[in-house]
Amino acid sequence: RVHPATPYLDDLNPAQREAVEALDGPVLMLAGAGTGKTKALTSRMVHLLTTGRARPNEILSVTFTNKAAREMKLRMGRMLGEGVEGMPWLGTFHSICVKLLRRHAELVGLKSNFTILDTDDQIRLMKQLLAATNIDDKRWPARMLAGVIDSWKNRAWIPSKVPASEASAFNNRGTELYDQYQRRLLELNAVDFGDLLLHVVTIFQTHEDVLQQYQRWFKYILVDEYQDTNVAQYLWLRLLAGAHKNICCVGDDDQSIYGWRGAEVGNILRFEKDFPGAKVVRLEQNYRSTPHILAAASSVIAGNESRLGKDLWTEAKDGEKVRLIGHWDGDEEARWVGDDIEAMQRGTRGMEPFSLDDMAILVRASHQMRAFEDRFLTIGLPYRVIGGPRFYERLEIRDAMAYFRLAVSPADDLAFERIVNTPKRGLGDKAQQKIQMTARENGVSLLDGARILLQDKGLGGKAAGLLARFVEQMDRWHEIARLHTPGSLIEDGEAVILDEDRPRAPMGHVELAEIMLDESGYTSMWQNDKTPEGPGRLENLKELVKALESFENLQGFLEHVSLIMDNESEQEGEKVSIMTLHGAKGLEFPVVFLPGWEDGLFPSQRSMDESGQKGLEEERRLAYVGITRAEKVCTISFAGNRRVFGQWQSALPSRFIDELPDANVDVLTPPGLYGGGFGAAAAPANTIDAKVAAADGYNSPGWKRLQARANHRPVTQPRETRSTILDLSASSSHTVGERVFHQKFGYGDIVAIEGDKLEVNFEKAGMKKVVAKFISSGED
Ligand code: ATP
Ligand code: MG
Repeated sequence: RVHPATPYLDDLNPAQREAVEALDGPVLMLAGAGTGKTKALTSRMVHLLTTGRARPNEILSVTFTNKAAREMKLRMGRMLGEGVEGMPWLGTFHSICVKLLRRHAELVGLKSNFTILDTDDQIRLMKQLLAATNIDDKRWPARMLAGVIDSWKNRAWIPSKVPASEASAFNNRGTELYDQYQRRLLELNAVDFGDLLLHVVTIFQTHEDVLQQYQRWFKYILVDEYQDTNVAQYLWLRLLAGAHKNICCVGDDDQSIYGWRGAEVGNILRFEKDFPGAKVVRLEQNYRSTPHILAAASSVIAGNESRLGKDLWTEAKDGEKVRLIGHWDGDEEARWVGDDIEAMQRGTRGMEPFSLDDMAILVRASHQMRAFEDRFLTIGLPYRVIGGPRFYERLEIRDAMAYFRLAVSPADDLAFERIVNTPKRGLGDKAQQKIQMTARENGVSLLDGARILLQDKGLGGKAAGLLARFVEQMDRWHEIARLHTPGSLIEDGEAVILDEDRPRAPMGHVELAEIMLDESGYTSMWQNDKTPEGPGRLENLKELVKALESFENLQGFLEHVSLIMDNESEQEGEKVSIMTLHGAKGLEFPVVFLPGWEDGLFPSQRSMDESGQKGLEEERRLAYVGITRAEKVCTISFAGNRRVFGQWQSALPSRFIDELPDANVDVLTPPGLYGGGFGAAAAPANTIDAKVAAADGYNSPGWKRLQARANHRPVTQPRETRSTILDLSASSSHTVGERVFHQKFGYGDIVAIEGDKLEVNFEKAGMKKVVAKFISSGED
């Protein structure tokens, strides 16, 4: 049957349709991975609009990541065609709360141009607070305080609400420090991430009229990934939905992976209590993965005791078994994955060819990314890192952004501190202390403090001149930035307009940014920098200015950066995605690689050390999330040796590997560095590393079990020595297999060449990476 007005309903199964068509009253959709929860939620929004139940801005839709929000917008656009104007409020809790808080900032003592602090700033602030106490910051470091305060905010506790049971933190001064921290943030006109939600909840709780305004405004509320909401988010939802109760939440208790950040699966159980009569819909058909992948995921998650439990089935054809492979070390793992990806792309793995966009590597810990990035750079395999060590976290980017921040909000003292003497302006500790003191005495921002200090002639000749110039520049830039920022909000719609009477800015915000970096001397600081990083940093600054182009003003950009969790590079073309398992939630890829399945890495050491099963169960859910991202091919791998922070460590295969059902797994044998990983020839006995590995790696019960399971099916593609060819330009005349001599390590054979680095198996010292220029031919 085709419904001409509602064609999107025809793509749904009966259970999904039920959830989509039950528009009024509370609905809870509880179902496993890939059963079409997000699809149903998106269809529900479309249905609300098509049936005229709501106008776009009367719908509030919460996603877990910005990426998910973008995806949902795209899908909605496709379903709607050109039918409806405008878009719902669609975003993460944080991005929606920023908008709300800017409108009502004054109700919690902020100004609407408040700054959103990043973790660095937050920690610096806490250090300052701790320094003013006699608390031992070795025992109670600032980072820990940040964690404690964050967890309180996640539970929606303002300082006065922190229960007595928590009071022992920080020598019984935790609550007091929390209170001071909040006051300091208000002075700075700043908020941290947790505040975005906390302040809005506080406003709703203390201003009935404001709450009612939004209760009327948001007629329908939809929430994806509901299992990962924390208490503050839950309260926020309950307040907003309190009047009409038109709230639809979808989630999967097996995919709750943010317990460490305060998420409470209990919110699922609480929902039915707080919203009596809620319609509960269960979905069981999985549309994403093949039966082998599904069976593997189900088998792993079955190891958890605390779960609601559900069955999944699929109509898909059998397809590939889950591929399992062991490697000698992390670099070898990365090398194999790189080769495999290229083989998959060419279609030489006995499967259809896949695009690079179809493939993703999902890691447990972000430090795992480095090996893949290095390898892919070496062989020229295009990749994107999503949500990893972010571009915006680099030193030069943070400095540059501090300039932008100060221009937008002159009271941003943390930004001031960061750049007042960067580049060096002869304003050392002493001068800065004077500024701090003057500011404190007068109860003003540091920038204004500097102004007063200059008037009072409190600074010596040269420093005074330099500071005066800095203040003058900042004032000038602020004046321009101010003209870029919209004046007034229209209250009853979401539109934002510019004051017509406002004078025009003499230049755009992109040009302003360039001028700030040039005139402040920041750019030339890196131009004169002689370290190898200098050029890269200049490149990054260029990238930054380029990124500004797609925003209306600096404030919008700064907001974006503080919220955005993923950093997709703008370059065209197919790319492999690299991201953490946490960041992959809700996504799907035809081909998924899950490297580093080793005890201590995955599950994490921390979860293994913990007493009880709670941490381990969360890790297992993470494994479930990982496997269920895959549509057609899922490859799990592990390495017997891994270098963590410069130290070699031998590792055992993850306990989760033992939980994979034999019938759904194919154990591959890599033609590796030593003629094979586990299951093939044993490691060479003559290297230091091999001895370590032999002690508890290769001979461990875990490896032996796997060897027994291995069917020794070799991968069809022989290992390539292409690196040799590719790197000739960079690496002189060496070849793989060549015997060489190194001053410190003695004789050895080259096993791989990457740029000007050689990987050499030394007779005495074992595997080492060395720079080509320290190597001489070992023939004579
Ligand atoms: P996760 O728990 O991982 O977030 P999910 O339950 O949200 O998964 P979706 O992402 O909505 O699942 O759907 C998974 C895949 O199945 C998508 O590719 C989607 O287009 C497809 N799908 C969902 N429902 C149907 C359906 N009724 N018919 C065909 N395909 C469907
Ligand atoms: Mg989903």
